[in-house]
Amino acid sequence: MASGAAKSDVRSHRIGDDEISRNFGDLHPPLSRSEALIAADRCYFCYDAPCTTACPTGIDIPGFIQKIRSDNLRGSAQTILIENIMGGMCARVCPTEVLCEEACVRNTHEEKPGEIGQLQRYATDPVFADGTPLFERAPATGKTVAVVGGGPAGLSCAHRLAMLGHDVVVFNRDAKPGGLNEYGIAAYKTIDDFAQREVAWILSIGGIELRNNVALGRDFTLAELRADYDAVFVGIGLGTTHALGLEHESLAGVEDAIHYIAELRQASDLGELPVGRRVVVIGGGMTAIDIAVQSKRLGAEVVDIVYRRGPEQMGASQYERDLAQISGVTIHYWAMPVELGGDGHVSKVRFARTELDGNGRPVATGDEFAIEADAVFKAIGQALEDEWLDGLDVSGGRIVVDDAGRTSLEGVWAGGDCVAGGDDLTVTAVQHGKVAALGIDRFLREA
Ligand SMILES: Cc1cc2nc3c(=O)[nH]c(=O)nc-3n(C[C@H](O)[C@H](O)[C@H](O)COP(=O)(O)OP(=O)(O)OC[C@H]3O[C@@H](n4cnc5c(N)ncnc54)[C@H](O)[C@@H]3O)c2cc1C
Ligand code: SF4
Repeated sequence: MASGAAKSDVRSHRIGDDEISRNFGDLHPPLSRSEALIAADRCYFCYDAPCTTACPTGIDIPGFIQKIRSDNLRGSAQTILIENIMGGMCARVCPTEVLCEEACVRNTHEEKPGEIGQLQRYATDPVFADGTPLFERAPATGKTVAVVGGGPAGLSCAHRLAMLGHDVVVFNRDAKPGGLNEYGIAAYKTIDDFAQREVAWILSIGGIELRNNVALGRDFTLAELRADYDAVFVGIGLGTTHALGLEHESLAGVEDAIHYIAELRQASDLGELPVGRRVVVIGGGMTAIDIAVQSKRLGAEVVDIVYRRGPEQMGASQYERDLAQISGVTIHYWAMPVELGGDGHVSKVRFARTELDGNGRPVATGDEFAIEADAVFKAIGQALEDEWLDGLDVSGGRIVVDDAGRTSLEGVWAGGDCVAGGDDLTVTAVQHGKVAALGIDRFLREA
């Protein structure tokens, strides 16, 4: 039999450039003015606005929609961005179907909510197109804050602190700021370098010094930051990925989904990216859906997602699952990988069908099946790199914080994916950063 390496079919340019650029165009093209006005007119302007309660950042949704109706886009954008400085990105990436739009009263009358995400994009796009400044800094306080991590949590915290008059230094491990907005989110959700345009606008408020390519643990310690700054915010996300724990995991063609996605997001020519003909994705969250859909859109012929539990437990929303299925991805529930096969390069994965045991854990039923694969992506979650967190309490692999984002160390706050109790969404990371900044501000003024 020919070796697995000889049989593997992973290559670039599986489909033509035109098809790739169509596949990676804007997932939801922006609303025109007339579409936006019609969509805005559908809002009931509810007094108790359940949509606002359902938005993790508490945006005054009826308020910004009302301003769209009167063509006051600058005012509308300000209403959004004062609560959520990444309102532009969130308009593109929030799973609105389980947040603001799920709570919309229109659902009960017409089974179709207001298009809150799209209206939010309509109101904020002009700000990022021309760099309109909307916020000013308060008089300087003379206090300095170190923010570790330049993702949504860190940048949200830095912007609010700068607005409040503090001077901020953002220490960011990656070469570019934005965190997973730049390196993780599916390419068709954030086209035209939007992540960097948004960061540039956020930094334009002044008072924020950004240092890329520097990492906590490698270039400095938490103790040094605590000594040099009046307060510290940690928003480092989740830096490592879980392993499957199977033999042969180092076979060529078996890769972490987030590494491939980061490469994809940074590629100047998507056609150059090697992609397998038969791709298997293991996992059930947003990352699993994203790697599967993007593989298909790069030209993979057969893409299978395999998840060890049922659809109700899947981290990816119904909308994301529908997107995968519309894109031609097959989702298999109730199965877990038990063996990776191949000679040098992966060629198949053997799965055990699963069911829940008495403790609610998926266990093998004894029934098995195999799927052929040229590429296998692991999308089973990320973990905190906590070895250099110098005494911060960590529980269940996340930093422990109180409701205000305070950690167990005096003068140190944390937020975003790296803390316990979040839901690993951009909008939640932004809210954590904002809440922590308000707490830090109180702390600095009382000091
Ligand atoms: C593939 C994928 C797709 C996703 N899609 C969506 C989506 O569609 N919608 C949605 O709402 N959410 C989505 N998410 C989740 C969302 O991206 C995250 O919840 C959000 O980015 C978390 O923000 P954060 O600031 O906590 O962390 P991150 O975005 O991870 O940013 C962390 C930052 O910290 C820096 N850093 C890390 N370690 C160090 C260190 N030691 N020292 C200094 N800096 C450090 C990094 O360079 C990075 O800039 C997705 C996640 C993934 C992985
Ligand atoms: S930030 Fe997200 S959840 Fe909040 S209103 Fe906007 S789209 Fe909805």
